[in-house]
Amino acid sequence: MTGCGSKMAAYVPRGWDYKEITVRCGNTSPHGSPWLCEACERKYAHVDWRREAELNGEAWGPEDY
Ligand SMILES: [Zn+2]
Repeated sequence: MTGCGSKMAAYVPRGWDYKEITVRCGNTSPHGSPWLCEACERKYAHVDWRREAELNGEAWGPEDY
């Protein structure tokens, strides 16, 4: 899968506020693009996630690009 799988904090909208949750780097967020740690964010900075999803259906994988 995309990302290194390390745990990281993410924020998701909840009511009027945001809730902090723990996700794994590479997990797909509610807005479609994966959560990435700082290192992976730099690594995948060039990737257009919307286009990747179109090309590969819903499935994400390390061979998607
Ligand atoms: Zn990572």
